[in-house]
Amino acid sequence: MNKKIGFIGLGIMGKPMSKNLIKAGYSLVVYDINPDAMEEVAKCGAEKGTSPKDVAEKCDIVITMLPNSPHVKQVVLGENGVLEGARPGMILIDSSSIAPLVSKEIAEKVKEKGVLMLDAPVSGGEPKAIDGTLSFMVGGDEEVFAKVEDILKAMGSSVVLVGEIGSGNVTKLANQIIVALNIAAMSEAFVLATKAGVDPEKVYKAIRGGLAGSTVLDAKVPMVLARNFKPGFRIDLHIKDLMNALDTGHGVGVPLPLTSQVMEILQALKADQKEKQDHSGIVQFYEKLAGIEVKK
Ligand code: NAD
Repeated sequence: MNKKIGFIGLGIMGKPMSKNLIKAGYSLVVYDINPDAMEEVAKCGAEKGTSPKDVAEKCDIVITMLPNSPHVKQVVLGENGVLEGARPGMILIDSSSIAPLVSKEIAEKVKEKGVLMLDAPVSGGEPKAIDGTLSFMVGGDEEVFAKVEDILKAMGSSVVLVGEIGSGNVTKLANQIIVALNIAAMSEAFVLATKAGVDPEKVYKAIRGGLAGSTVLDAKVPMVLARNFKPGFRIDLHIKDLMNALDTGHGVGVPLPLTSQVMEILQALKADQKEKQDHSGIVQFYEKLAGIEVKK
């Protein structure tokens, strides 16, 4: 496909994702409010856009990778936004993790101008964004999905259409509940093992191949042992996801008791000014309770 692709939001995730599209041979027009981020991707061969509207005017497909619902609304529906520059038939792929109801709302609005939308959030974090092995969970029409599947495959190793618009973000919320609870369980367990006098590195080696082993364990235990809480995935973004999960759960009548507990742990870390750290920093909540540090 020779069509030009727009990419808006060049942060921890958007930068490597857009670079992988360039590597795969696509022509890109990029935009971010941070000029340094744009400069970095432009050096790899992308054209710099001047606004989301400008990007949409130049492209048949526009991908957004922004923090949360208000940012996506602003970039798509706001002044000088994507919708102002879009032509009928343009495809908007929102890869940000946002509230499923907002995905539906934006899709309805852009449809009035003939723009087709998919919500396509990802899992895998920065390392998999760099490797091009992200997991995409996509919501929207099958026909639209078929047109852009190859583009998503240039950034991810798993690309699954899960249902109608909004389903991608419902799936992402499920993913984020599992990840948050896993990190909390891992933290509780490693603080116990350390305080009980067992070397946490040996605990990790001993259990990673068994039933307790997981992608979360392999990604996060080495970070904790090295006391490296550089994000990765920030605590403030996980607070945003759990807020969206709790809202969605309450909206459809599903209590989320464990999610709400981990939410309060994240809030405690935020009150401790740790919200810009990686979510593996959850361990510090348990360390404070027990008066011990999990390290090599
Ligand atoms: P980030 O904060 O690093 O990047 C967001 C980018 O959006 C920044 O470069 C920012 O300047 C830009 N931006 C904000 N408002 C804008 C606007 N109005 N116009 C143009 N650009 C704007 O965040 P990230 O870690 O890359 O995450 C992006 C999304 O992906 C979030 O929804 C997050 O939850 C999700 N996500 C992140 C990870 C991860 O590990 N970091 C993993 C999976 C999903």
